[in-house]
Amino acid sequence: MSKVDRIQGVRGMNDVLPADEALWDRLESTVAATMRAYGYARIRTPIVEPTRLFVRGLGEVTDIVEKEMYSFVDSLNGDELSLRPENTAGVVRAALEHNLTYESPRRLWYAGPMFRHERPQKGRYRQFHQIGAEALGFAGPDVDAELIMLCRRLWDDLGLPQVRLEINSLGQADERAAHRQALISYLEGHRDLLDEDARRRLHSNPLRILDTKNPAMQEIAENAPRLAEFLGEASRAHFDGLTQRLRDLNQPYHVNHRLVRGLDYYNLTVFEWVADGLTLCGGGRYDPLVEMLGGRASPSCGFALGVERVLELLRQHDLVGEGASPDCYVVHQGDAAAHTAIQVAERLRDAGLDVVMHCGSGGFKSQFKRADASRAAFAIVLGDDEVAKGVAAVKSLRGGQDETGKGEQQSVALEDLADFVLGRLADEPADDANGGI
Ligand code: ATP
Ligand code: MG
Repeated sequence: MSKVDRIQGVRGMNDVLPADEALWDRLESTVAATMRAYGYARIRTPIVEPTRLFVRGLGEVTDIVEKEMYSFVDSLNGDELSLRPENTAGVVRAALEHNLTYESPRRLWYAGPMFRHERPQKGRYRQFHQIGAEALGFAGPDVDAELIMLCRRLWDDLGLPQVRLEINSLGQADERAAHRQALISYLEGHRDLLDEDARRRLHSNPLRILDTKNPAMQEIAENAPRLAEFLGEASRAHFDGLTQRLRDLNQPYHVNHRLVRGLDYYNLTVFEWVADGLTLCGGGRYDPLVEMLGGRASPSCGFALGVERVLELLRQHDLVGEGASPDCYVVHQGDAAAHTAIQVAERLRDAGLDVVMHCGSGGFKSQFKRADASRAAFAIVLGDDEVAKGVAAVKSLRGGQDETGKGEQQSVALEDLADFVLGRLADEPADDANGGI
């Protein structure tokens, strides 16, 4: 036994293992294609940002800033930094820093890890991944509808059934202030029914109380004064503009009066996509944010989806798909064959084939076991005989077995090898092609 203790990963921060790669790959490639279809360009911002960015951009009384941020002081220069808990503030910062919206509005998207110090449980981690899109400088509601339809197309392309759209309007700050007063009076009148969390938020963030998951609080939240009753004409027109477009596009929606977002900067449209009681994706307008971060006022809208939650749903619905497998596995025996094998593998790769070459020693039998385990389409076999004749034996590893149970084997001149394999692959049914479902 080793004397050295093993170091474990950080709680709530997961390794993504090769077995899950097919799933991740499918989501990422589908997302990239969907974003392209709507004209969104990818942006990659740093994981570490000044803490100030999130305090200003998210609001001081949000869950994230109050208790979920990984903040630290850079010991070398005293800078106050945080691991990003979300990417909207970073994208807006970068857009301003590089004048991306100087001439015209911009459609941007991102994907990557985010960090929140939450209690880890299924679908809730401390490092998790988000994919999101931001439409900067668009007043909507056309772009609000576009972002919603982008999500819809993504669920469809992934094959996810029954993802439900919930929408609401948060109005503008003054409308929320009036509603807030009414809400606080109402909640104060029912103070004995509030849980500890709600009492704490009563004066800091009462709107968020409506979002409570506590079953004992459902009735009081349901009967609370509705923000919708406090909306002015312009806010109502924006919301009607969105719902009209959704109806035109045959996109079902459910108006959820209690839908609020955790972040302070949202206004007007908010939406969530929910499946099996789990929120996959949240989004909405954040018109004040760009100005709050020092830019020219530019109305904007965006969403973020939780990658782990979407992947979990894909797993539950058996939409995992096959992982990529190599085209060839090169097995060899003997000194001369070992030298030839490494050259043959390079030439096959030159022709565009995915090739795993056996490295190290081992008899043919154990090498064939590894070839099978690699799920390669063909074993390329090189022994002393083959090298002497300038050929390789090509053995099919998938199907194509004769009555003795052995895959058929053919001798092919080395210079014809790549073309031969490419030809055989082209004849094969495409069902085991890399990565697809
Ligand atoms: P919740 O109410 O579930 O805490 P939130 O309002 O904090 O969600 P957002 O900040 O809007 O969530 O993030 C968008 C999406 O990112 C969520 O809908 C969810 O799918 C995902 N997400 C948020 N926090 C986590 C986490 N800790 N682990 C995994 N996914 C998360
Ligand atoms: Mg949260």
